[in-house]
Amino acid sequence: MINDILKKIPSINEIFEDNKIKELVNQKGKIIIKDIIIKVTDNYRNKIISTSYHRKDDFKKEEIYNLIIDEVIKYANLSEKKRLGRVINGTGIILHTNMGRAPLPKRAVDKINDVASSYCNLEYDLTTGERGSRYDSVEELLIKLTGAESALIVNNNAAAVFLCINTLALDKEVIVARSEQVEIGGSFRIPEIVERSGAKMVEVGTTNKTYTRDYENAITEDTRILLKVHKSNYKIEGFTHEVSGEELVTLSNQKEIISVEDLGSGVLLDLENFNLPYEPTVMDQVKKGLDIITFSGDKLLGGPQAGIIVGKKEFIEKIKINPLTRMVRIDKMSLIALQEVLSIYIENKNVNQNIPIIDMLTKTSKTLLEEANILKKMMEEKLGNKIDIDIIEEDDAPGGGSLPGVALQGFSLAISSNIISPNELQNKLRENMIPIICKIKNDKIILSMRTIDKKDYEIIVDAFLRLL
Ligand SMILES: *Cc1c(COP(=O)(O)O)cnc(C)c1O
Repeated sequence: MINDILKKIPSINEIFEDNKIKELVNQKGKIIIKDIIIKVTDNYRNKIISTSYHRKDDFKKEEIYNLIIDEVIKYANLSEKKRLGRVINGTGIILHTNMGRAPLPKRAVDKINDVASSYCNLEYDLTTGERGSRYDSVEELLIKLTGAESALIVNNNAAAVFLCINTLALDKEVIVARSEQVEIGGSFRIPEIVERSGAKMVEVGTTNKTYTRDYENAITEDTRILLKVHKSNYKIEGFTHEVSGEELVTLSNQKEIISVEDLGSGVLLDLENFNLPYEPTVMDQVKKGLDIITFSGDKLLGGPQAGIIVGKKEFIEKIKINPLTRMVRIDKMSLIALQEVLSIYIENKNVNQNIPIIDMLTKTSKTLLEEANILKKMMEEKLGNKIDIDIIEEDDAPGGGSLPGVALQGFSLAISSNIISPNELQNKLRENMIPIICKIKNDKIILSMRTIDKKDYEIIVDAFLRLL
């Protein structure tokens, strides 16, 4: 009896002959659709064998056929969701690690657009007509901007830290304060990075207090690096003491040991100008005399994923010729983006407007409230009484392991509807053509104005219009 029902499941070839499926194959390719058909038909086969399903022997062949076709279409559309694509970030977390950290400035995107489909002078020196270095142009910008003697760009900051230690302290010792043994995003942990770089980590100090003498007492003839790590994603408060950059430099000069600081975010602007707490800039740290400073390209700098190393020429030259440097080389598109982002800083052209990350970070409450009113009005005009919107004060966050403990005063829309529950609304917004990501608080959908671009307001209104 089961076999009779199993026979009602259409064959793969039969399904491929269906007009709707033919169209899907056209859109998405046979490879994708075949996999889905196999999965869906297997599912039905198992269901029929293992459950009471087969007792419904009045099941019509046509019925099963239609169910299967519908399911194939559903899964084909779902598979699209797994592709990388753009989303609208309504969370108010600026450097959202799960949403790609820093959106690029328009100027960087335009330049990539212009260059990427063509050849470029990546490693070709246009003045001599000979082979050049891919790093020259961006290195020069970094040197001018930060005041460092030399610079090197690699794939990301994790690679930058790794290379510094591997080049300068292989089989030797690196001293790190216990309070600075950070973990960033799960896979980057200072003790593991130091070990995998081929050096031995020597811990000094206690969880809350570290003094210069702790470093001094730990120095042996094998010590090569005094490593300082930015406490990017946490804060130690209360009875604390840490060794300042200046103190570390003094000791490193006395003992002729290299001072390295993993600065994490790499800020190039004085954030106090925007009423934010002081955050050491790369320039400040260069001035203090640290031998090497590393930071990310896609955190508060607001550029592409990259690891930037600046510092004393004699050390950077050594890192450049480490064979591992090639393995963490930055690609041309990121390099071009970084060149454009650094140019915005150098030319000092409305940095806080032209670099999206800085724009979001420095937006005033007044602007955010105005924007909240604009979006609220747009939504109310289109959606009328299907929706209830309040403007609420809600703190936003820098995110992405930067400015720990800093809350940014902001404004959000708190949205509810009597047609659909907040959870359902949140799920549906996430399934939107351009997914809209938001949180729920007090049974309302919360859309933070800080991380939503004006150009996306229409998309948001349309999404709600379709859902309600
Ligand atoms: C973010 C961060 C890293 C890792 O940087 P990536 O660019 O993500 O590789 C390393 N160290 C610190 C202190 C950080 O904040």
